[in-house]
Amino acid sequence: MHPIQMVDLKGQYHKIKAEVDEAVLNVLESTAFINGKAVQEFATNLSSYLGVKHVIPCANGTDALQIAMMALDLQPGDEVITPSFTFIATTEVIALLRLTPVFVEVDPKTFCMDPAALEKAITPRTKAIVPVHLYGHAAPIDEIMTIANKHNLIVIEDNAQAIGGDYYSKNGKKKTGTVGHIGTTSFFPSKNLGAYGDGGAIFTNDDSLADKMKMIANHGQRKRYYYEMVGCNSRLDTVQAAVLNIKLKHLDEYIKARQSVADFYDRSFAGHSKITTPHRASYCSHVFHQYTLVLNEVDRDGLNAFLAEQKIPSMIYYPVPGHHQQMFAHYDTAKVSLPVTDWLTERVISLPIHTEMDHEQLNLITSKVLEYING
Ligand SMILES: *Cc1c(COP(=O)(O)O)cnc(C)c1O
Repeated sequence: MHPIQMVDLKGQYHKIKAEVDEAVLNVLESTAFINGKAVQEFATNLSSYLGVKHVIPCANGTDALQIAMMALDLQPGDEVITPSFTFIATTEVIALLRLTPVFVEVDPKTFCMDPAALEKAITPRTKAIVPVHLYGHAAPIDEIMTIANKHNLIVIEDNAQAIGGDYYSKNGKKKTGTVGHIGTTSFFPSKNLGAYGDGGAIFTNDDSLADKMKMIANHGQRKRYYYEMVGCNSRLDTVQAAVLNIKLKHLDEYIKARQSVADFYDRSFAGHSKITTPHRASYCSHVFHQYTLVLNEVDRDGLNAFLAEQKIPSMIYYPVPGHHQQMFAHYDTAKVSLPVTDWLTERVISLPIHTEMDHEQLNLITSKVLEYING
């Protein structure tokens, strides 16, 4: 049996090696390392895949969030509402820009922003909302948009974990990340659409936001050497774009492979009183960036250690939610009580899920999980 990994990037690479090697070597030969042909090609390919008007490639998913927020003309102290139960990049960028992160509760089933909690957290200083499609499951973005429109707020979807997912909006089927005003994503190697290094992108259907974000990502210039505003330097490099052009063609098949791993796990744990398998809301397709169980009356950290002894990796995403991080200790808005978030951080565990898993590996993982839990 192949050793079990959280993600198997090597196995996946070997299946597309000839094509990827050729594309990368072409970039080396062209020496157009910055803004080479593949970058614009990728932006075009991704915008047609997502059905969104503008795709702005950038250096990583954290920059994508930062550039999106920089485009909103916010003032220090303006409030941005976001879940506490997310990867730190989502909330860190808010604070980096001297804005105030306002942490709200998530739905215990979907792990995503709870619209009722969102509505309660809105104040006259609220300017934007950043829902996160955590683990590959979409937040209820139609409901979030309805609330946002009522209060005149901008919605930035953090789509780093859900690229390629479908969202069945009241306006028809869309891709996650394209329903709000702006969507952002990451091409970190382990993401569902991963590069062979860092990468990110921003999407929007709004022409003026697109224009502004493009300028911000390029030192605040539209015309070379004429700087209209303070921006940053955030580019997707050509080698990564060349890899992503190939991997984008396989994204739907990668998602299917992840979903069939999830189906296997679901069947193995179905009906177990101590295990809650991931919820799949009817309004979206779950693309399973992670397969995350919620354990009931189980020593979660004990299971994590037991699996490690069996050479089965598992991860706790995320052990400490944002509102308990030292980084935010001086914010009054971090002194909130988020019992669902706290409850989840003590009970979640993510099992290996990727495009290269086989039944032998899955049988071993599920039997060891059940062995520990059943005692
Ligand atoms: C990975 C991730 C990011 C950041 O992406 P990087 O490319 O690592 O900067 C942001 N938000 C979420 C939810 C993520 O999972």
